[in-house]
Amino acid sequence: MADKRDFYDVLGVSRDASQDEIKKAYRKLSKKYHPDINKEANADEKFKEVSEAYETLSDDQKRAAYDQYGHASTDPNFGAGGGFGGGFGGQAGGFGGFEDIFDQFFGGGGGRRRNPNAPRKGEDLQYVMDLEFEEAIFGKESTIRYNREEVCETCTGTGAKPGTSPQSCSQCRGAGAVNVERNTPFGRVMTQQTCPTCSGTGKEIKEKCTTCHGAGHNKKQHSVKVTVPAGVEDGNQMRLQNQGDAGLNGGPYGDLFVIFRVKPSELFERSGAEIYYELPINVVQATLGDELEVPTVHGKVKFKIPAGTQPGTTFRLRGKGAPHLRGSGNGDQHIRVKVVVPKKISEEQAEHLRQFAKASNFEEVTEQGDSSFFSKVKDAFKDKSK
Ligand SMILES: [Zn+2]
Ligand SMILES: [Zn+2]
Repeated sequence: MADKRDFYDVLGVSRDASQDEIKKAYRKLSKKYHPDINKEANADEKFKEVSEAYETLSDDQKRAAYDQYGHASTDPNFGAGGGFGGGFGGQAGGFGGFEDIFDQFFGGGGGRRRNPNAPRKGEDLQYVMDLEFEEAIFGKESTIRYNREEVCETCTGTGAKPGTSPQSCSQCRGAGAVNVERNTPFGRVMTQQTCPTCSGTGKEIKEKCTTCHGAGHNKKQHSVKVTVPAGVEDGNQMRLQNQGDAGLNGGPYGDLFVIFRVKPSELFERSGAEIYYELPINVVQATLGDELEVPTVHGKVKFKIPAGTQPGTTFRLRGKGAPHLRGSGNGDQHIRVKVVVPKKISEEQAEHLRQFAKASNFEEVTEQGDSSFFSKVKDAFKDKSK
C-alpha cells in the first residue's frame, strides 16, 4: 500500500474537482489505457488504477472517507476489523482508549492508517517526447532534461541541519495524526485529524537544513538518456524506473513515463509496421505501364507499373514498412495507385485523344462492360429464385 498513487493524481484532477470533472477525466483515461486499445505492457495496470480511483472518487461517501483516511479507507477491512496494529504499533503507547472509542464509531473495527515514517516511493512523472515520422520508425538516442524532486544532498533527505536529526513529533508521538473529541448527535466521539505540529509527517525538525528548508528534497534539473526503440507509434509510452521524483523517508524514486508524440508524414500513413503510400500516375502511365521511382522510408525504390493498371489498384513492397516493435523484420509498404486525369489540355492533345477514342471503339467496350455487369446481376437473381 505504501507506493499506491494518490487517487486525485491518478485521474489528474484537483482535490476539489466536481463529479463532472472526475467523470470526464475517467472517460479520457480509461479510453487511453483500455487494454483493447493500448497494447503497452503496463496499460492493464494503469487501467485498473484509473478504474479504482474512479470507483472511490465518484462515490461521495467513499470519497469523503478517502479524503480523511487515504487509501486505508478503500481497504475491505476498513471499519470492520483491521485495527491500528500495523500503523501505530511502534509508538502507540498511550493510544489504548482511543482505539476503543474509534471502534464504536465505525461499528467495531477501525481503519488502518499509513505510518507517516514508512518509506514511500516518489511520484511518477510524465514527459512528452516529440518525434519526427522517421525517428519513430528507426528509433533514436536522445537526452531529455526536466525538473524533478531530488534527495537533498546537504541533509541526505532527513530535512535536518547536518549534525542534527529529526525528532519524533512531541504532539502525535510520530503517528502523524491526533485524535480529537467531537460532539455529535450520538454523543462525544473521537475522530482523527492530521497533526497540526508536524503536518502529518510524524517528525519535528528543530534545526532545518538550510538547503531544502526541511523538506529533504528539492527541485533540480535532471537529464536522462532515452533510447527510443525502432517502431514506436504515436501515443506509445515507455517507463524509466527511478527517474521520477524522490521518495519520502528513504523510499525509492518514482518512475518516469515517456510518452511519444509522432509527427505525421506528408507522404505516408502508418499503422503499426505497415506503411501506406498513394502513387499518382497519369492516364498514359496507367494505360501503357511504366517504370518509376517510389519513395519509401528506406529510400527510393524502382517500381514497375504494369500496362492497364486500374485506379485504386494496390501493390505491396515487401519489407519496406516500419520495423515490428516486438519481433523482428519490417512490415510492408502498400502502394495505392491514383490515376490523375489532366484538367487542362491543349487543342493538339485533345485532337490526339479524339483520334484515340475513334480508334478504340469505346462504345463496344462500354457495352461489354455493361453486359457482363447485367449478366452477373441476372445470375444472382436466378440463384435466389431457384
Ligand atoms: Zn536538506
Ligand atoms: Zn505530529
